[in-house]
Amino acid sequence: MDHRLLDIIACPICHGKLIYDKQNLELICKFDHLAYPVRNNIPVLLREEARELPLDEEK
Ligand SMILES: [Zn+2]
Repeated sequence: MDHRLLDIIACPICHGKLIYDKQNLELICKFDHLAYPVRNNIPVLLREEARELPLDEEK
């Protein structure tokens, strides 16, 4: 994924910065403990599509 994109995208819920997880192809919001999927290099920043992260998976 284009890293410049990371500078401009933010969590749709808290508008915080997202962390790109290359291994899982997810964008992680530490604040909401949500992981947004990246499909075909396109971040899907939808609450309905996000996966809830267990607290011990926090990075
Ligand atoms: Zn958030």
